[in-house]
Amino acid sequence: MSWTDERITLLKELWGNGKSASEIAEILGGVSRNAVIGKAHRLQLSGRPSPIKGKGDMEAKAPRKKPKEEAQGATILSLTEHMCRWPIGDPKLPGFKFCGKPTTGSLPYCTEHAQAAYQQPYRQRDSSTSSSSSSRPSQGQKVTA
Ligand SMILES: [Zn+2]
Repeated sequence: MSWTDERITLLKELWGNGKSASEIAEILGGVSRNAVIGKAHRLQLSGRPSPIKGKGDMEAKAPRKKPKEEAQGATILSLTEHMCRWPIGDPKLPGFKFCGKPTTGSLPYCTEHAQAAYQQPYRQRDSSTSSSSSSRPSQGQKVTA
């Protein structure tokens, strides 16, 4: 038998409808299932979704490359003056590191840690903001830092 235009059209149709190769072969008649597959492949019909047979993944699943994970942080040896020296972890433990991110301005810390470094002392001072109108004048005592 030969592939007439008519049969090819029918093949395309059936293939597109998700018929299996053996079904198509049966409908067309006179062709084997393998012939149908081979013809479909030559017609580049093989890209259809195949709900009938999960016949393996034709496309090799390329493993996605993860962005190279650089070791975060800096040790005391690799720390430079332009790196954040915010301590991370316990200095007594081997995993101890410094933040190591680029510093901001004149501070030895990165943006994040500069804020953290400033917030702590300021919070403690909040209770004594109205020192000028204090009911207890304390001349000998310097409150200002
Ligand atoms: Zn930092």
